[in-house]
Amino acid sequence: MIEYVLAAKNGRTIPKEDKIFGISNRANAMIEAKGKDAVVNATIGALLDDNGDLMVLSSIAETFKDLKPTEYAPYAPIAGIPAFRKAVIKAALGKYEPKGYVEAVATPGGTGSIRNTMSVYTEYGDTVLTSDWFWSPYKTIAAEIGRKVETFTFFNDNRGFNIESFEEKVFELLGKQEHLVVILNTPAHNPTGYSLTIEDWEAVVAVLNKVPVDKKVALLLDVAYIDFAGDEDECRKFFPVLEGLPENVLPVIGYSASKTLTAYGMRCGAMICLAPTKAIAEEFKCAGEFASRGSWSNCSRAGQSVMARIYSDKELEERVKKERAEIRDMLLRRGKAFDEEAAKIGLVTVPFDAGFFVSIPCSDPDAVASKLEEEGIFTVPLAKGVRVSVASISEEVCRRLPMAIKKAMEACGC
Ligand code: PLP
Repeated sequence: MIEYVLAAKNGRTIPKEDKIFGISNRANAMIEAKGKDAVVNATIGALLDDNGDLMVLSSIAETFKDLKPTEYAPYAPIAGIPAFRKAVIKAALGKYEPKGYVEAVATPGGTGSIRNTMSVYTEYGDTVLTSDWFWSPYKTIAAEIGRKVETFTFFNDNRGFNIESFEEKVFELLGKQEHLVVILNTPAHNPTGYSLTIEDWEAVVAVLNKVPVDKKVALLLDVAYIDFAGDEDECRKFFPVLEGLPENVLPVIGYSASKTLTAYGMRCGAMICLAPTKAIAEEFKCAGEFASRGSWSNCSRAGQSVMARIYSDKELEERVKKERAEIRDMLLRRGKAFDEEAAKIGLVTVPFDAGFFVSIPCSDPDAVASKLEEEGIFTVPLAKGVRVSVASISEEVCRRLPMAIKKAMEACGC
């Protein structure tokens, strides 16, 4: 942790180095010292090929290179260029045609949508709710803007979504504050790979129907991995369930083009509301723009232009989808390989469906991750287990990691 000298503390505990990037740096140092074959870097949250190189869809690379100066050089409007706002709604919702009022505001990646949703829909000092297995930057984002994060227990004893814990925490927090943001990262949750089922969604909607009318909730659907969870239409089948939410619970979709377009550095994303009334949709857009203006101002125009081009050209859109399906299938094979091997040897994972990550619960994640590092295997220790990125390792490595993890856990007495 940094020693504060001139910086104001503001309740923040600031590490000297980002944990995941720090581990990745150690993995790279070992590659330098011992060679590539001696190291497995299962920390990276980006899709790499079997040689460890970043996979970029050629359709995206070509579209990017073809941009004209007028498509990247001028400032974009704060909410995003109109063609992008239309495109990103299509990208996020797919074939689903919402009944209410839809608005989109451009954000730098999915991260920006999380930041703005917290800032617009909670008061300073409020607590945001998410599951106990969660993407740690939620906490950083909250701390940065004077909010806190509390969690509900994600899974019940039957390896299903723990609706009782969800309900309990929602009403505990609503007992203390007027506003609440609830973040559900699905499908293909980071770090577990779990996807809420239609039944889970119905249960969530039923709970949120009990929210008193004087309370205000934003349900943030962090769909960063939506195009890597399986069939793209199947993965969007839960959207109509959200139509059952009451007027004081607003679904906000946090969309990220980072994974869906393999364009992580493009910093393109959006917050999208499915509002029941025009007034709520207009408020969403104005407040979202205000939050953007006060943080990053407008977003990179290049990413918006790439998306605008893709979704106004049927042929290009199909090409992107086809290319993405190929790399998604590769990712799904890797996840399945890991899951199968884990099951064979009795290594218990957190419920996994699909996605970039698999997590293994254990009592001393730091010790297990350190033990694995000794053997050149780099994973990310979380509060409740160890995270493995199947996105950054080959299928063959996915097959051999479960045994290495099991042995490391045994050596650490976990
Ligand atoms: N949400 C989750 C769960 C993520 O894992 C990520 C990226 O790793 C994001 C959101 C946001 O990604 P970005 O800001 O790069 O688009």
